[in-house]
Amino acid sequence: MNRRFVRSVRRAAPDRPGAQRVNRSATDGCSSTPGTASRPSPVADNESVSPTPAQQARASAIAAEIAALATAGFALPGTLADRMTRCGRPNCGCHADPPRLHGPYHQWTRKKGGKTATRILSDDQLADYQPWFDNHRRLRQLITELEALSLEIADADPRWNR
Ligand SMILES: [Zn+2]
Repeated sequence: MNRRFVRSVRRAAPDRPGAQRVNRSATDGCSSTPGTASRPSPVADNESVSPTPAQQARASAIAAEIAALATAGFALPGTLADRMTRCGRPNCGCHADPPRLHGPYHQWTRKKGGKTATRILSDDQLADYQPWFDNHRRLRQLITELEALSLEIADADPRWNR
């Protein structure tokens, strides 16, 4: 019975990457243990990658900050910039020398359906939405950092060399 089980695990190896680990890490005495655990449980898959304690700690910190940001509020995409502008009236002071430009205007720019969308925020809109823009930017930073950390861990996986 034990022999038949081991054979079925090996047969599953080509189309199931996690099963390969059984051949490498299992000793003769306990070959059935990792096999039983690895099939249904995602916990066993975590044991097959090896984040350092520092990497694990950083991932936990990132997850905690993402959770806090998501709980605290909203996330508006795009960038904010204060812009000075000229209008279309030829006699306006914005065309004088030196020019007295209009603004500053709080210009919100983002991608919308492949095109750049621009809106001008009033002062009170800026006050309301500034935290939403800040949340979004920080969330993107954290996701980017989590991606880099995960790639670092995956790249160090010894199983790539088999
Ligand atoms: Zn003008």
